[in-house]
Amino acid sequence: MTNVDPSCTFCKIIQGLIPAHRVYEDSQTFAFLDINPLFPGHVLVAPKQHFVTLYDLPGEQLGPLFTTTQLLARAVETAVEAEGTFVAINNRVSQTVPHLHVHVIPRRRGDGLKGFFWPRHDYKDDQSREAIRAAIEHEARRLLG
Ligand code: 5GP
Ligand code: ZN
Repeated sequence: MTNVDPSCTFCKIIQGLIPAHRVYEDSQTFAFLDINPLFPGHVLVAPKQHFVTLYDLPGEQLGPLFTTTQLLARAVETAVEAEGTFVAINNRVSQTVPHLHVHVIPRRRGDGLKGFFWPRHDYKDDQSREAIRAAIEHEARRLLG
């Protein structure tokens, strides 16, 4: 496998050098139980190759990663009889393992998972909303070339 970081915990898990509770594997992706689950059934889905953030993942690997994520979200929900899931990626901030991974977390109404409902910060006024909207639109166009 190309693009492995020998010091990376998730690369070691994917290579079988340290143990993990695997739930799914294919040629490009690997999914396993989170060691410190928010709820039983909390799964991490990772590309087998080492990329730090979502931004670093080559375009052709986005499909495989999200296909596996969709599969695991369905599987987790059914397997633990949840009502839904929360699917999330930390990029840099709050990212404790620098190998891209998607959290698939089973959810039930009233499950008390308030940590994800951060305080909301509204725009100062219509002008500041429009300035930020335009800046994001401009940046997205710039990135597309
Ligand atoms: P992050 O904070 O980067 O979004 O998520 C990292 C996740 O990886 C955490 O939820 C943490 O519990 C999990 N984790 C960290 N080290 C290990 C490990 O060695 N094995 C497993 N299975 N999960 C891990
Ligand atoms: Zn890695």
